[in-house]
Amino acid sequence: MDPVVQRYASRTTPRYTSYPTAPQFQAGFTDANYRDWLRQLDPADPISLYLHVPFCRQMCWYCGCNMKLAAKYAPVASYAQTLRKELALTADALPGRMVVSHLHWGGGTPTALSSDDLEAAMDAVRARFDFAPEAEIAIESDPRTLTADMAARIGAMGFTRASFGVQEFDPQVQKAINRVQPPEMVAASVTQLRAGGVRGINFDLIYGLPLQTVESLVETVKLCAAMRPDRVALFGYAHVPWMAKNQRMIADDTLPDAAARSAQAEAAADALRAEGYVAIGLDHFARPDDDLTIAAQTGKLRRNFQGYTTDQAETMIGLGATSIGRTPSGYVQNITETGAWARAVEAGHLPVAKGLPFRGEDRLRAEVIERLMCDGWVDADAIGRRHNAPDGWWKEATDTLREMEGDGLLTLSNGKVVLTARGRPLMRIAAAAFDAYLEGSKARHSVAV
Ligand code: SF4
Repeated sequence: MDPVVQRYASRTTPRYTSYPTAPQFQAGFTDANYRDWLRQLDPADPISLYLHVPFCRQMCWYCGCNMKLAAKYAPVASYAQTLRKELALTADALPGRMVVSHLHWGGGTPTALSSDDLEAAMDAVRARFDFAPEAEIAIESDPRTLTADMAARIGAMGFTRASFGVQEFDPQVQKAINRVQPPEMVAASVTQLRAGGVRGINFDLIYGLPLQTVESLVETVKLCAAMRPDRVALFGYAHVPWMAKNQRMIADDTLPDAAARSAQAEAAADALRAEGYVAIGLDHFARPDDDLTIAAQTGKLRRNFQGYTTDQAETMIGLGATSIGRTPSGYVQNITETGAWARAVEAGHLPVAKGLPFRGEDRLRAEVIERLMCDGWVDADAIGRRHNAPDGWWKEATDTLREMEGDGLLTLSNGKVVLTARGRPLMRIAAAAFDAYLEGSKARHSVAV
């Protein structure tokens, strides 16, 4: 690994799927607060919907998500019913019937729902919202639970995109992470979804898994490429067994070290490029003619809780336990515990637990961080002018940025920060220089004063 990059890589930074980031959200945000924000929306503006299903049929040992094992279907069916009620409560709180430009089912495993329950939920969405003509309707899927019937019905329900957590195809690695899904199983799911009319297919891959090698990951990329996914995300495994107890099933001595992880990440990225994929943002790849690539090339790429997206809506309404949403007024997060979430909905409340109203420089810093994470460069002064901030408003960020400039990781001139090819993997560290909430941040001090 490049020793300079290695020196920076050990610094921990948020992933910046939002700014301010989720740990800053405050408890005590109420149903009344959220209703107030929803009432202020312009009914003419398109919105996004995110629906969360926290259930999985089996636990992957690497999982860092907040999920529940569902050995029986009854709790899942009950959850699906409550989700429809939350949808109706939320639609009632909006200033009118609104248009949805993006809808995303995430989890957990949304395909842990039965086909009937998924269809009932989509019918409930269509009863209360209109879809934009080119709306993206996406679902995270799992080839181990996706039946042929559900694949066909997903197409008929109008889904345009499905994503799969492929991670790695090597049988030994799959066994070590407790997620056995041979390439033939994934290929069959992809074929069924495409036959049903789903146009876009996303794969997620992970490097740094137990027993994984450069060779096994490159072979995985080749097997994936043969299935022609439109987009591929490449993430690093975060081993935090003190936080995610299931990760204790992964023995430390089976994990690749930092140098091996880095070699895997580089080899997988090279293999994806060799297969014709274009690198996007921090960790995504897409076909040259994919909407995500076009958005990246035209400065329209966005970043939200689902990662990189073409979604331009300023409002995302999150439904389901744990879901996070965003309005022009701020961020909001639902109750995490499914029982408490369901009781709140049954009592007729929007089941919110936390929120963060935008204030001060939040919107300005959010825009700068998002552009840096999406484009690899940002004109911080130009964005500042749009927010009525004087040129050089970001002076507290310059110590870190000058240090990175000295190491050849970025250039700084005329109010612009431009990451070099060497610095691109470190875009989160450049973004963190603009984060006023980070512990010890100079920006935090300047805001406090
Ligand atoms: S399917 Fe996803 S959410 Fe469920 S256990 Fe595996 S990694 Fe976690």
